[in-house]
Amino acid sequence: MQPLPSTQPWDEDDGFHEECGVFGVWNATDAAALTALGLHALQHRGQEASGIVALSEPSNFNAHRGLGLVGDIFGDAKVMASLKGRCAVGHNRYATTGETALRNVQPLFADFEFGGLAVAHNGNLTNAAQLKRALVRRGCLFQSTTDSEVFVHLIAISLYSNVVDRLIDALKQVQGAYSLVALHDGALIGARDPLGVRPLVLGRLGAGEGGAYVLASETCALDIVGAEFVRDVEAGEIVIINNDGLRSIKPFGRSQSRFCIFEYIYFARPDSVVEGTPVYETRKRIGSELARESHVAADVVVPVPDSGVPAAMGYASEAGIPFELGIIRNHYVGRTFIEPTDQIRHLGVKLKHSANRPMIEGRRVILVDDSIVRGTTSKKIVEMVRQAGAKEVHMRISSPPTTHSCFYGIDTPEREKLLAANHDVAEMAQIIGADSLAFISLDGMYRALGRPGRDAANPGYCDACFTGDYAIPLTDLTGHPERAPALLAANGQ
Ligand code: SF4
Repeated sequence: MQPLPSTQPWDEDDGFHEECGVFGVWNATDAAALTALGLHALQHRGQEASGIVALSEPSNFNAHRGLGLVGDIFGDAKVMASLKGRCAVGHNRYATTGETALRNVQPLFADFEFGGLAVAHNGNLTNAAQLKRALVRRGCLFQSTTDSEVFVHLIAISLYSNVVDRLIDALKQVQGAYSLVALHDGALIGARDPLGVRPLVLGRLGAGEGGAYVLASETCALDIVGAEFVRDVEAGEIVIINNDGLRSIKPFGRSQSRFCIFEYIYFARPDSVVEGTPVYETRKRIGSELARESHVAADVVVPVPDSGVPAAMGYASEAGIPFELGIIRNHYVGRTFIEPTDQIRHLGVKLKHSANRPMIEGRRVILVDDSIVRGTTSKKIVEMVRQAGAKEVHMRISSPPTTHSCFYGIDTPEREKLLAANHDVAEMAQIIGADSLAFISLDGMYRALGRPGRDAANPGYCDACFTGDYAIPLTDLTGHPERAPALLAANGQ
């Protein structure tokens, strides 16, 4: 058995990283300020960079983009004053493709023959490299290294006359997971990929004709601006919002929805409601299922904060043993804080999390976390809890083993670096140093979402990082644009 590398930086590299957040507003006073607030609520989806493009009459687009957190980029009154207009789109970036550089910060903006268009995209295209090669051969000059610019060039070369038809033309050529918001001087447009992998919700701000429409990755961004939740934008739906109201089109035909199940486990903010299901409640139910499946005698249930908290509450309540905050998280650790020496790296665990010794000492502890990726974080957490005097440490994970990488917009290591892809559960327990380790089962996860279990013919969610059942073709990876056989059969194709 290979030992884990001892010089691995603290979980900068160990864990799933959120993808991106998008926000758009049509016809509201201070549209850019509302967008900045929405992006602030979506900060958990991306902390590397943010941008806003605002539209003022008649066709003036003003943009500001920066590296860092929303509050730092848009906290300057002069910046906000420059973003005039009643319509805006914004984006929080976590780089899943392309390096961290200002030229990659969205929304992207381009001038076309029909006018300006700003595009903000969350997700990952699985045939972007193939499309990009073809576009470059046709003379398209790429300004950024992001997948998202592919949309812009496909729209530019489309032979259709209006922007919506051009967008549909572009979307029909891309494969992958995307939720996007786009703004031109005639409309705010929202779109989700045909399987609806990434989230997008529609909200309404104020009533009647003077009311504004809002599009956002999650409902927590509607709440912060006081918008009422209207509905999720559906899988494969395009919504076009302008002064005449809202129009919906579904250009892709019917297919089974495959919403990312990991949004419930980790990515979405716990106060969001996604696809009609509250995230917080779901996480608690996953914890209850986990306790039913794999409880072990213990004195206390301790979450690995923050995302492990609701699952640990559900676990403790089901198991009938106390829930305690036995690990405290320091929220003020910056991304660049870790010094590059091995000795300081080793202290990393204490920078971000520290043990609350009185809650742990002399006790048999059940630790609840959302996932194990490489295992380096879990190993250090277990070690820390033991050093704080725990008699036993049992790790319980509120997701099934992560055996495959995500290609749909979530930053995960290559498969060979995923602990569960290379070891069974007993080996993993030994590697992370836990007395026992258990993951929720696939069926248990689906039961927590109100289903009897996983229906292989129609799972209803993307769960590829646990099953390898990739519903969208991985064309850039495999060179073949074929779709997954199970989905083809289920769709009668
Ligand atoms: Fe979500 Fe996993 Fe599917 Fe990626 S592979 S979209 S993380 S469920």
